Amino acid sequence: MQDLAQRPGAIRAYYEGLAAGTFLGSACGACGRVSFPPTACCEHCGSWDVRPRQLSGRATLLFASHNIAPACHPRFAALAPYVYGHLRLEEGPIVQAIVLGVLATPEDLQRLFDRGPVPARAEVLRMDDLPVLAFRIAA
Ligand SMILES: [Zn+2]
Repeated sequence: MQDLAQRPGAIRAYYEGLAAGTFLGSACGACGRVSFPPTACCEHCGSWDVRPRQLSGRATLLFASHNIAPACHPRFAALAPYVYGHLRLEEGPIVQAIVLGVLATPEDLQRLFDRGPVPARAEVLRMDDLPVLAFRIAA
């Protein structure tokens, strides 16, 4: 087994990547699949043979809703009201993230649903305490 203490923390690398404007997952050397967020072992097959992989940032918005509850963390209060959604990354994993480019109103969400699956691109929100992944839908 590899010396895990010598491995850089996958989540630390993820946040350092976001701060630098890159979007990291982990790619498995055994099964070839991508995990997101990056992990120390593959979430698909359990192999420890994983390496950081820069992801394209391209995704498809599958579902979206407005946040009717208070923001889940104080860092998001300044963004509220915002849209939150599930997106399938081009590399396969499904992520939950803030969705930019649509207003958090029933009318705008209805127009979004009428469009069907919508292409989106990763974008970094630079909060006071850490960078946060979001996705901006195509116009
Ligand atoms: Zn694997």
